[in-house]
Amino acid sequence: GTPTALMVGTGIGAEKGILIRNGEAVQTFKDVKVIAFDKTGTITKGKPEVTDIIVVNNTNEKNLMYIAATIEKASEHPLANAIVEDAINKGIVLGDVKDFEAIVGKGVFGTINSEKVFIGNRKLMDDNKISFSDYENSLIKLEEEAKTAMLIAKEDKLLGIIAVADPIKEDSAMAIAELEKMGIKTAMITGDNKRTAMAIGKKVGISHVISEVLPDGKVDEVVRLQKEFNTVAMVGDGINDAPALKQANVGIAIGTGTDIAIEAADVTLVKGELSGIVTAIKLSKATFRKIK
Ligand code: ADP
Ligand code: MG
Repeated sequence: GTPTALMVGTGIGAEKGILIRNGEAVQTFKDVKVIAFDKTGTITKGKPEVTDIIVVNNTNEKNLMYIAATIEKASEHPLANAIVEDAINKGIVLGDVKDFEAIVGKGVFGTINSEKVFIGNRKLMDDNKISFSDYENSLIKLEEEAKTAMLIAKEDKLLGIIAVADPIKEDSAMAIAELEKMGIKTAMITGDNKRTAMAIGKKVGISHVISEVLPDGKVDEVVRLQKEFNTVAMVGDGINDAPALKQANVGIAIGTGTDIAIEAADVTLVKGELSGIVTAIKLSKATFRKIK
C-alpha cells in the first residue's frame, strides 16, 4: 500500500542524497508541472568572484577596492564576500565603517570618515540621485556576460563599477534539460537584474526568467505559478527563499544552504546538485506506478 511505498521511496531517496522530511512530497513530486529555482547558490555555486573593475572620477583601483571592501565587510551577502576577498588578496588593509545599512534588493550604505558610500544597483543610485548614465553601456556589456555589476559612489559621485561572476554548478544545465525533456517547465526567480538573470537562464536552458524580485516577492511569484500550473516545486538555499519553499507544493532546499531554508523545505538535496530533483521525480513516478 501507500505507506510502504512511501517508506521504500524515502529510503531509496536517502541513499541517493535526497532527504525527504515530509513523506507526502514523494507523492506530490510526480504531479509537479513547474519547478522554480532561486539563482544564487541554487543554480550557481553562490561563490561569486570579482572579474572586472572600472574606475572613474580620478579614483584609482586600490582606493576603489579599499572603499568598497571596507563597507562590504559589514555585509553577509555573497556579493559582499567577493569584494572583501578580492581586496584582501590584493593586500589592501580595510578601514572602519560607520552607519552601515543593508538596503533590501538594492545594496548597502555606510560612512567612511563621515563620507557617505553607496554600493549597489541602478535603483540604489537612482534613489540617491547619483548619475551613472555615461556607464550604462559598460553595465549592459557586463550583464550580457552573465555578470552582476555593482556601482560604487561616494557622496553624489560615482567612483566605479565592480563586476562579479558566480560560476554555474556543473550539473545545473543537464538537470534542467532533463526536467524539460520530462515535460516539466523550469523557471528562475531572482533579485538580480534582468539582463544578468536572462544571460544565466540562457546558459542553463531555463524557459521562464523572473528577475528583480524583492525577497518578499518570491512567495507571490510561486502563488502566481500555482494559479497557472497548479503543482509547483520551488528550489532555494537562502533565508529569503524559506517562505517560497513553504508556499510551494514541494519545497526543495539545497543541503549546503541556510538552516532556515532546510527547515522550511519538504526535501533537501544533500550535495546541492540539481540532478537530485530528476532522481526524486523518477523515484516518485516509479513508486506510485507500482501501487496503481
Ligand atoms: P539575490 O539573492 O538574488 O542576489 P538580493 O535581493 O539579495 O537578490 O539582491 C538583489 C540585488 O541587490 C543584487 O543583485 C545587487 O545588485 C544588490 N545588492 C544586494 N546586496 C548587495 C551588497 N551587499 N552589495 C552590493 N549590492 C548588493
Ligand atoms: Mg540563493
